[in-house]
Amino acid sequence: METSKAHVALLPLPGMGHLIPFLGLGKLFVTHHNFKVTIFLVSIHHSSQTLFKTIISEMSNELCNIVQFPPVDITSVVDPNATVGLRLSVTMREIVPALRSSIATMKPCPTVLITDIFGTDAFSVAEEFDMLKYVFSPSNAWILALTIYTPVLDKEVKDEYVYQKEPLKIPGCASVRVEDLFDPLLDRTNQQYDEYLHAGIRLRTSDGVLMNLPVYPGGPIVTQSGNSSKSGLLYDWLNKQPNDSVVYVSFGSGTTLSHEQMTELAFGLELNKQRFVWVVRAPTEESGNKTSLKGRSGDENHDQFGYLPNGLMSRIQHVGFVISDWVSHLDILSHPSIGAFISHCGWNSTLESTLMGVPIIAFPLFAEQKMNATMLTEEFGMAVRLEVLPSKKVVGREEIQKKVRKIMVDNEGHGIRDRVNELKYSAEEALCKGSSSYKALFELAKRFEARMQLQNKKAPL
Ligand code: UDP
Repeated sequence: METSKAHVALLPLPGMGHLIPFLGLGKLFVTHHNFKVTIFLVSIHHSSQTLFKTIISEMSNELCNIVQFPPVDITSVVDPNATVGLRLSVTMREIVPALRSSIATMKPCPTVLITDIFGTDAFSVAEEFDMLKYVFSPSNAWILALTIYTPVLDKEVKDEYVYQKEPLKIPGCASVRVEDLFDPLLDRTNQQYDEYLHAGIRLRTSDGVLMNLPVYPGGPIVTQSGNSSKSGLLYDWLNKQPNDSVVYVSFGSGTTLSHEQMTELAFGLELNKQRFVWVVRAPTEESGNKTSLKGRSGDENHDQFGYLPNGLMSRIQHVGFVISDWVSHLDILSHPSIGAFISHCGWNSTLESTLMGVPIIAFPLFAEQKMNATMLTEEFGMAVRLEVLPSKKVVGREEIQKKVRKIMVDNEGHGIRDRVNELKYSAEEALCKGSSSYKALFELAKRFEARMQLQNKKAPL
């Protein structure tokens, strides 16, 4: 069937930090290029699915077609206690047959498949249906370079990476310090390492990588998660606070702090006497911080905030606002009262903070977040980093007080604020019509159109 519109199929990893930027990318193809966009939604966990669906349907606003796959059973392929990252990688492989069946029924067939770094097994479907195959990495170029280079490191480095005395050298990029290593590289005997290695090998077979082979620096793709809701108690409270006076505290969509860490953070914020907004989730019962796929549902089984130190809520009532619901980061970060962001340094949160000109107090926890924190502090100078107490493996209350003060009160904070404003300006420039990102996506769109015409010629009449 002949068509005049290129059709982009998006296959993101089922986590907020991936779905939201994929949605943003889809919207750009619809609004700037009038393409048809289909988003394939992979199901993972019942409770998070409701949140995903709400946010996606609010965000997509009938711009994109959504196909949701039923959950796949991965219990026979992966240990139920495996890390979130490993379970997601395996899930992305196991949905390939469902993707194939769905694409086989689509008339006209999509022109291009764009998937995540961990979704490249789906390339077999793109090849079968003569589609272009791209990767969209909603993170930064440093982590992408590390992923592509891991197959080389795998051959060159004999021992575990964590035992290396020198940082790992990545061509064209800063070296990666062993203490900042991306999670899958921490243990080469773990299945998660094999999955990452596989991703690095498959990535080289793509027609290109978006974000940033050619590499298409399409970002910063920053998009509102869900409908903007600048109303309600939180916004009434923010509206009463002076400019740049509030510290925003949030660890993204999937992280849960340990009880001990949460207590230190609570006291750190209280002792500081700076205003703050804290998006909290019930802590994990075990020691150690965790990532989960459960959205915010963990709070449902607890007394609201009963896990915070005794009496905290009444002591902080004039300076702090604590919430457990999903609120859009962009809505909060764009409020003039926000003066700093205690963030886990997820890449989307990082871009959002940059675009809103808000300095970061870096509290990296998992995945590539430690690399991001190093880049933000040492390369961009837009953040200070919270140091973990080696004896306790938590960030202590004194450290939190000290670093919040540094950004909000000390002279050093002014310099950091100036730098983040310069970066904000560059990020805004990159998004304008005629900018580098605009041109890169335009060039990419032309490729998609050329492939669509080729498909049209080959299609049976
Ligand atoms: N987010 C949000 N409100 C929340 C938590 C997260 O709007 O309460 C959004 C945030 O703006 C970002 C995404 O969810 O776009 C989280 O992505 P990120 O890469 O920062 O971290 P992840 O959640 O993947 O660890």
